[in-house]
Parts: sequence; C-alpha cells; structure tokens
Amino acid sequence: MGAHLAIIGGGFSGAVLALETRARGGCATVIDKAGAFGRGLAYSTKDPAHLLNVPAGRMSVMPDAPDDFVAWLRGVGRAFNPIAVGPNVYVPRHIYGAYLEERLCPSREQEESSAIRLVQGEAVGIEIRADEVCIALADGDSIVADAAVLATGHSAPRAPIDIAELSPGVYINDPWSADLLDAIKTSADVLFIGAGLTMIDVAQSLMHREHRGRMLALSRHGLTPLPQHELAALDPTPLQLPLSVSHALRALRQEAHRAQGTGGAWQDVMNRARHIASAHWQRMSLDQKARFLRHARSWWEVHRHRAGPEASQLLQTLLRSGRLRVIAGKIVDATMLENRVTLQYRPRGKDDLDCVSVDVIVNCTGAGQDPQHTQDRLVQVLIKSGYARRHPTGLGYDVDETSALIAADGVASQRLFALGPPTRGAFWEITAVPEIRRAARDLAERLARLYPAA
Ligand SMILES: Cc1cc2nc3c(=O)[nH]c(=O)nc-3n(C[C@H](O)[C@H](O)[C@H](O)COP(=O)(O)OP(=O)(O)OC[C@H]3O[C@@H](n4cnc5c(N)ncnc54)[C@H](O)[C@@H]3O)c2cc1C
Repeated sequence: MGAHLAIIGGGFSGAVLALETRARGGCATVIDKAGAFGRGLAYSTKDPAHLLNVPAGRMSVMPDAPDDFVAWLRGVGRAFNPIAVGPNVYVPRHIYGAYLEERLCPSREQEESSAIRLVQGEAVGIEIRADEVCIALADGDSIVADAAVLATGHSAPRAPIDIAELSPGVYINDPWSADLLDAIKTSADVLFIGAGLTMIDVAQSLMHREHRGRMLALSRHGLTPLPQHELAALDPTPLQLPLSVSHALRALRQEAHRAQGTGGAWQDVMNRARHIASAHWQRMSLDQKARFLRHARSWWEVHRHRAGPEASQLLQTLLRSGRLRVIAGKIVDATMLENRVTLQYRPRGKDDLDCVSVDVIVNCTGAGQDPQHTQDRLVQVLIKSGYARRHPTGLGYDVDETSALIAADGVASQRLFALGPPTRGAFWEITAVPEIRRAARDLAERLARLYPAA
C-alpha cells in the first residue's frame, strides 16, 4: 500500500485528491466537518435553480475520462434528472454534487473495503512528528497519516460592514444558507453587497421564493458577470502577455478585438488567458500582483467567471425590468432607522455620499481568503504554530510550486500540503474544476513519489 494521506476537507478538492490517491495505490482518510463529502460549498445547494456555469461535458472528475459526468448523467444520474442530457447542458449543481458523492463513495459496502475512508469531524489541530503527521479532531479523536493536505476550501465570508449596531436578522453573512433566505419576507427590500455570481445565486433563490421586494446590488465597480459563450475548442496558439498589468490588459483587449473581427468571441480569448494565467501569475512580482488585485481583479472576475445562459438571462431580465439595480460604490456606514437599514455609500468616482434604505442585507462578496481574518480554529493553530504562514497577497497560505506549505521559517514542509482555494495566492487560477483537477493529480503524483510504500 502506498501513502496514507489525511485530507482535511471533503469538497471537490478533497474528493478529487482522494480519487487520484487511490488510483496510485495509496489510501486516504477524508475529514469533513460538514459531512458534505464530494459536495463541499459549491455543490451542497439543494436549490435546483443553482446551475453549473460550465457545460456538463467539461465537468468530469476524471481527467482521463472527459465524458464521465455525461455518461453518469445518462445512467445513474437519470434518477436525479430524468431528461437525457448532452455535453452542452448546464445542469443543477446539486446533481453534480450527487455525482461527486457517488464517485467518491459508490456504496456503503464498497466503502468498507475502500482505500478511501470518510470521517465526519472538524480538524482542529495538527502536529508534525518525525515520520508522520497527527490530525486532532474536535471530538478528541485523532488521525495519523504520512502527510496531510488542507483542502479546506472557501472560508466563511467576512462581514464587509460593521454589523454590531444592526438588529438581528437584517444582515445575512452566509448567502448559501437556505434557512436564512427562507426567512426573508417576499416583500422585503434586499441589498446584496457584491454583484458577482454569488449575487446571481441569491437573486435566483429569492425569485424562486416569489420575491416581490426591490433588489439592489452594491459593489465597488458595479460590474456583473458577463455571459458564458458556447465553448469552442481551445485555440492552441500560445497567448503571450506582458507582466505589466496595464500592458497585459491592453494586450488581452486587442486580442479580443482581433478574435471578434474574425468571427470569434472574446470568451475564447479569456479561455486562452485562463490557460496561461497560473504560470503568468507565478512570474509576476509581488508588486505586480498587488496592482492586479487592486485595479484589475473585478474586471478579471466578470470576464473569467461567467454566468451560464439561464443565470445570465435572469440577470438581464431583472436589470431590464428594474427589479434589480446595480450600484457602483463604497460602503461608508450602516445604521438602523425604524426597523430598516440605512446604508451610506460613496458612489464610484464621486465625492458626495448617497444612501439607500433596505430591510435586509445579504453578503455576496464571496468566500473569505485571508488567514489573518478568520475565526477558523485550524487556521489559527496552523499560523500560531508556525507550520503555515499567510501568503503575502493575503490569498490563503504560502505554498511552494508543489503545493507544500511554507512554514514561518520559510522552509517548505515535506508533510503538509494544500490544494484548491487556500493556494490562490500562489497559483491564482486554482478555484474551478479543471485547475483543481490538474493540481490534485500533480499533488497525488508527488505524494506517491515521496511516500512510495509506507
Ligand atoms: C457557489 C459556487 C459555485 C461554483 N460553480 C462552479 C461551476 O459551475 N463550475 C466550476 O468549474 N467551478 C465552480 N465553482 C468553483 C469550484 O468548483 C469550487 O471552488 C470547488 O468546489 C472548491 O472545492 P473545495 O473542496 O476546495 O472547497 P469547498 O467546497 O469549500 O470544500 C471545503 C470543505 O472543507 C471542509 N472543512 C473546512 N475546514 C475544515 C476543518 N477544519 N475540518 C474538517 N473539514 C473542514 C468544509 O466542510 C468543506 O466541505 C463554484 C464555486 C462556488 C463557491
């Protein structure tokens, strides 16, 4: 038997790494505090209105079997979705979650003999010993393995306003909590902080609940996700981008114009840019990364993380009908006034303040990423013990090119690794299925070499 890995986090990242580990003769104990094995945050939703923003044909969990998800949909998946689907369909995310869950753990009997063990529990501590690593769980249990991988994904979002003075129930920090969204009156005026894909998710959920109140989305730039486009085969021509952020954006725009001039789509250019983004990011200086995050991040997010056809159509319908208004501005203050929240904000490019009054605020700014600003016990232990350090961009942990955690003394660990969103500072494009799939494969290969026969 090869390496025994402890994988902390059983979302997409943890699931795909466990599968890759098993494929190499190793075994994995996957620990998840929510018990949402395979599903994690993105695919735990039960709302059928929440669709994948990528067609089914691109969502196989098996890199060597790109048709695996579509084949599953046509077989086992028919129980969830009786309509036969093809590779270009955008299916509900909960169905994709069922696929991942099933691939990770086909049946209870097989689980008994499987090289993948699933443990529901919260990892709250880690100790690196001479030849093993020990994970402490909140219930007092522990798991000993050759190496541990942090696949802890997206942390809870950070409140973008001071909520201390707000009445209970008027501020919702977790935009994916169906119970909290259920509690919003259908007549309530709702303000979303953030205008990206999460905002569309919440607007979709509210519309599903026959919401009649006003919806406002406030974000720094007021940009909303652009539409997905029927995906063409990736143009193999390498895209060369200058390291300077402004020059790189100019080059991207020129390339997009060129593509559109010859009947192509700017989305195809973004797909090529995505392909080289991680390598490009790693070549950028810290100063260039900081400039990108300050000036170009919102632009990148709306062009890169696009809305699928239905989500895009809903967004346009809501905007055109005036049911949803998007405001570009920076929040200055939030106070209660007669059971409503008054939000003062500075409109983008203006000096004077403006204000809106709403019944409920939903935080749609997306997951928290800075280990310095989290209440998560494990993260705090890792940073305090010096086993991990924050990436200088504030996007997750500092890791080397093999995903090994870099300790406070600057030395890369041989036993602690990270995968997926917690490595965004090092790799940037590492939060979607294709990138995580590739990174999981590389990491499983490296670990199989490091611990060939434990
Ligand atoms: C809403 C949403 C929709 C998306 N849609 C798409 C899409 O359509 N197509 C696409 O390609 N990508 C999509 N993505 C991106 C991508 O699939 C996700 O980023 C990916 O699922 C990341 O998975 P993960 O396992 O790293 O993180 P998560 O899904 O966040 O899972 C992490 C898991 O770790 C567990 N955990 C955390 N800390 C501990 C601890 N201390 N102890 C034990 N367990 C712990 C949590 O319970 C959680 O289950 C979407 C992302 C989101 C957020």
